[in-house]
Amino acid sequence: MKIIEVKNLIVKYRGVPALSGISFDVDSSDYIGVVGPNGSGKTTLIKALLGLAPYEGEICFLGKEFSSFTKEKHAGYLPQKMSFFDQRFPATAIEVVVSGMCCCKKFPKRLSSKDYSAAREAMEILGIEDLKGRPIGRLSGGQQQRVLLARALVHHPEILILDEPTVALDPKSRDAFYLTVEKLNKEKRVTIFLVSHDVESVGKYASKLLYLDREIIFYGTFDDFCKSEKMSNYFGAGQHIICHRH
Ligand code: ADP
Repeated sequence: MKIIEVKNLIVKYRGVPALSGISFDVDSSDYIGVVGPNGSGKTTLIKALLGLAPYEGEICFLGKEFSSFTKEKHAGYLPQKMSFFDQRFPATAIEVVVSGMCCCKKFPKRLSSKDYSAAREAMEILGIEDLKGRPIGRLSGGQQQRVLLARALVHHPEILILDEPTVALDPKSRDAFYLTVEKLNKEKRVTIFLVSHDVESVGKYASKLLYLDREIIFYGTFDDFCKSEKMSNYFGAGQHIICHRH
C-alpha cells in the first residue's frame, strides 16, 4: 500500500523554487532516509508534506488528496531543533506524551483515562515507562527526545516524520535513538520518513534513500545508491561511496 504519493511537487519562497519536479512514492513500512546538502530543501519537503508550506503539484496520503486528509491523525512528527524543556517546566513525562492525543480531538480537547493508557503503552514500546512521573525538565536530552518520540507515536500514526531528530544528542544517545526508530519500523511496521544531513547514519538504518538537491538526485535502496555512477559523479569523479551496514 502506498502511504504517500508525491507528483511534480514545486515549492517556492517569494517566487524562487526551493524544490521542483519532485515525484516519489512511499510504501507502507518503508524506512526512507532523506539526505542532501544544507539548503537542498529537506525541511521544505517536510513542510509541504505536513501542509505547512504552499506548493504546486500533488501530495496524496493513503490515496487521498491532501486537502481531504486530516494529516495530524495519520502522521507523527518530530521536528528539528525541538527546544528542550527547562528544569522548571511544569509537566511530567507522561503528561507530555498524552498531549500528543490532542491532535485527534475536537475542542475542548479533554483527555480521558483511555488516552493515558495509550500514553503508557507508547512509553512501554520505547522502554521509557520508568520515566512516567518524572518532571520533563529534569530528564537528559536523550530521554527528553524519547519522550517526544512517544508523544509523536501516541495516536498510532501510519507514518512518522523525523526532521534531524538527533542533532542535539551525543553519539551514544543518537545511536540508541536510531535503534529505537529501527525497532518501531521492523516490529511495529511504522513507516519512517527521516530527514538527516548525515548520509552514513541514514545508510545504516534506512531501507531507501532519497538524495535531494532542490530536485531528486537519487531515490532507491542504499546499495543501489552506493553503486550508482550518477552519485559517484555527484560526489566527484573517482569518489567511491563506502557502505557500512550493520
Ligand atoms: P535544508 O533543510 O535542506 O537545509 P531548507 O528546506 O531549509 O533546506 O531550505 C531550502 C532553500 O529554501 C534554502 O535556499 C533556504 O534558504 C530557502 N528557504 C527556506 N525557508 C525559507 C523561507 N521561509 N523563506 C525564504 N527562503 C527559505
